[in-house]
Order: sequence, then C-alpha cells, then structure tokens
Amino acid sequence: MQLTVWTYEGPPHVGAMRIATALEDVHYVLHAPQGDTYADLLFTMIERRAKRPPVTYTTFQARDLGGDTADLFKAAARDAFARFQPKAMLVGASCTAELIQDDPGGLAKALALPIPVVALELPSYQKKENWGASETFYRLVRALAGPHAPAPGTKRAAREPGVRARCNLLGPTALGFRHRDDVAEIVKLLDSIGIDVDIVAPLGATAADIARLGEADICVPLYPEIAGQAAAWLAKTFDQTLVRTVPIGVGATREFVAEIAAAAGLDASAILADMPTRAPWYSKSVDSNYLTGKRVFVFGDATHAIAAARIAARELGFTVVGLGTYSREFAREVREAAKLYGIEALITDDYLEVEAKVAELQPELVLGTQMERHIAKRQGVPCAVISAPVHVQDFPARYSPQMGFEGANVLFDTWVHPLMMGLEEHLLTMFRGDFEFHDGAGSSHLGAGKSHAPANAAAEKPTPAQDAPIVVAAAPAAAGPIVPVWAADAEKELKKIPFFVRGKARRNTERFSVERGVAVITVETLYDAKAHFGR
Ligand code: SF4
Repeated sequence: MQLTVWTYEGPPHVGAMRIATALEDVHYVLHAPQGDTYADLLFTMIERRAKRPPVTYTTFQARDLGGDTADLFKAAARDAFARFQPKAMLVGASCTAELIQDDPGGLAKALALPIPVVALELPSYQKKENWGASETFYRLVRALAGPHAPAPGTKRAAREPGVRARCNLLGPTALGFRHRDDVAEIVKLLDSIGIDVDIVAPLGATAADIARLGEADICVPLYPEIAGQAAAWLAKTFDQTLVRTVPIGVGATREFVAEIAAAAGLDASAILADMPTRAPWYSKSVDSNYLTGKRVFVFGDATHAIAAARIAARELGFTVVGLGTYSREFAREVREAAKLYGIEALITDDYLEVEAKVAELQPELVLGTQMERHIAKRQGVPCAVISAPVHVQDFPARYSPQMGFEGANVLFDTWVHPLMMGLEEHLLTMFRGDFEFHDGAGSSHLGAGKSHAPANAAAEKPTPAQDAPIVVAAAPAAAGPIVPVWAADAEKELKKIPFFVRGKARRNTERFSVERGVAVITVETLYDAKAHFGR
C-alpha cells in the first residue's frame, strides 16, 4: 500500500456518499468505525451544504470488535429507517469495516424493511471514489427502475405529434465540480432547442424519480465517470437514445446541440447560427501574445481533461504540451486524445509524478485540479482549476457553469486571466528598477508624483547606473567595443512586448549583451536578459 498525504480520489464509499447526498429521500447506512464520520465535513465545509449528508454510521469502536458488530449494524439500520423514513436505503461498509466482513447487505435483508434496500459491494482497496459513485448509481437505478423495464428488445413507442421530446440528465452529484451550475445551463439550452428535461439524477432526484428514469426518450450522461454505466443500461433496457457528447467548450456544445436535436427530430440550425457566447470573438480579439502558442499542461478527471485540451488547442490557440488523468478507467480515451496533440498521456494517481512532469515540461499555464493548483503555485506557474478534486472556492456563490455556451464564456475568463496576470507579474519583476514601475511608484491614475513608497524607499531607487545610457565602451577591453546587433527573430520577439515597456526591454537586453560580450542578440539572449533582470 502506498501512503500519501494527498489523493485525487477518496475511497469508493465517499463516491456512494456523493450519490446519497445528491438524492432527496435515500439514506445510506455505512458500517464504519468511529472517526470515519470525517467524510461529513467534505459536504458541509467544502460544498457549504446547509444540511448533513443522509448517512448513518455504525461508529463501532475498538472495544466493540470483540463483541457483535453485526448487531450494531442492524440496530443502526433499523434506527435510521425509523428516524429518517427514507424511500430507499443504501447499505455498505467503509474500508476498515470491510475487513470485519459483516455483510451489511445480508444483515439489512434480514431486517425486512418495507423499502428497497440496495447492498453496495465497493472494494475499497482496489477501487476509488468515482468508481464507487458510478457503481452506487448503477445499482440504485437497476434496483428502482429495473422493475419497470419492458420485455427485452421492446421498441419505444413513437411520440405523439406536437409532444416535446423528454430527456434525462445523468451524473451530477453532491461535491461535484460545478455540477449544480452545469445542470442549470444545460436545462436552459435544451429548453431553447425544444426539449424538456424530465429528470436530473442523482442531484435533486427522489427514489420515485429514479424508478421512472426509463420514461424519457433521450438519456444524457453529462458526467460519464459517474453516469456512463447507468446510462448505457437505461438506453439498452428502455430503448432510449444515448447522447454521448459532453458539452464543454464551444465546439463540443455545438456538437451536443446537433446530436440531441437530431435525436429529438428537431432543427437546431437557428441556435447554432446565433450562439449566445462571446468566447470565440474574445479569444480572437485578445492580443495573441497572451494566447497563441502558450504551452499548457492539462490534468484532471478524464472528461474534463479531454475537453480542456480540445478547447485549449482548438479554441484558444494554446499548444498542449501535456495531458493526463487520474481516472484509470478512462485511460484509453485520454491516450487517444493525447495522440491528437502528438504527446503521450500521463495516467497516474500519484501527484508527485504529476509534479515531476510539470517541472520537466515547464508549461506557461497549468489546467488542473486542486492538486495541480498547489503544484503550479510551488513552481510559480499560472493555473486554472478545471476538474475535481474540489476545494471550497470551486463552489462560488455566483453562477459559474463549465458546460454549454455560458460555460465557454466562464472558461475563457478563468483560463486567460491567470496568463494576463502572469504577464503583468513578469513585467513588474523585469522593470522594477524603472523609475515608472518600481515598487514604490504611485498609481498613475492618482496623479504624477504621488507615491505610496515606504520611508526607506529611497534605498530602493534605481541607481544612476541602471538608468544610464549604454556605454558600449564598457564591454571587455580585450574584445574592443561591441555594438550588439539584433537577429531578425529576436527583433520580432521584442515586438511582442507591449510598446510602453519595449524601449526599456531593448536597453536592458543590449546592456546585458554588452556586459557579456555578446555580438548578436538572439531570442535566447532576450530571455536570458529577462531572467537576469527578473531576479
Ligand atoms: S485544496 Fe482545499 S481542501 Fe484540498 S488540500 Fe488544499 S486546502 Fe485542503
């Protein structure tokens, strides 16, 4: 077993908790030792949920292990039913309780509760959180919708003329990365096409909703890591049309609209002709120095990582230098996607490997999870979060979807701004010796000469030598005076620097070259000078 401080995913019973917590009237009885209740904090602290997850723990202690822990479980399940009156119950064991082999499923069955009880077999030492969520949702869907399944091979009856197509959105959970806002965005988008969303599950669904998931015409697994398995079963069992495109980014949203409109027999050309998003124009209008060719490293769950790489390369003009996932179940899809960018996918759940890769590739932007946010911070690289694992700031009060056309706007803002800030920061370090830009200079909009410099700022004032004109004769005596010339590509690179600081960059680079006896300034010299003055 590998011990680590951080992990991308929790154990599978945390995945099961995410499903139970998303639902309205389903309770989860978890055989777990005292201490495992920490998982509640994930929901109330990080997601700011107003109520505790619907989970009852048996909370056995060390001294209980010599006695009858099976009885403890039965009592907990009986009490949970009496107290919470759920419409369905999930039962299972946490990692530690799995070792005492009490069989929660069999024990719950012996109680003969008057509601459906779904026993979860979640092997904690082999599987992780997303798999646990997927398995839980699949088992629950089979248990509740299964009794309503038509005979195998039955075809869906044609819709009455004038009746709008109905679709289910599957996969959003509690503690999901922007799931709440994604659902709102996609419901709005589908309404504009002429499609009704019948059930969103598990987020906000009841046990009765799950039981009638087979009624809709179309089934959309918005988060394939969580809903792919259940959606495939529903589509096959109830002859529903499966729409597989995940609408993240302008291109994918267009494809999603076209695919689901075709499934509903509708024409979406008006919506596609008049997309309500500013992202494409904004990405064209931004100074290409900010975006074009920026080297970006992408890591996250498989769906978000694949989508992010596509948007980065095709919609923003970045160069994808790294792509990876911790979702081992989707390794094949991520490897295929990586081939599109001529790179090899990084499939790992060891954040140290990811950190080493970021250090090796030295990207200019990291698009990753909260783990990569920490990694990027340590390495001084701008970063935007694109995927779970989540942090409290991934549940903003404002509306902030990742999916659909508004999601594309949000992605543009979130990914481009760190780069702009990065540029500003490098200018600040490069020109901090300049009379206009040094740390003590007051803001220009507050009027010339108004400085907020600390009392000792005089000591930090640029020395005359720094501002003095370049004295070419200061070059090494043996080599004689050197007048460095600019290579064409370096001159071109220089032009990418904003005009208001370009003169300073030119002078600094020339001084740097003279001091080192460099006769021809190349792009490399320009960046060496930048690094030198940025220290
Ligand atoms: S991202 Fe937030 S929750 Fe995760 S380790 Fe950092 S501080 Fe803790």
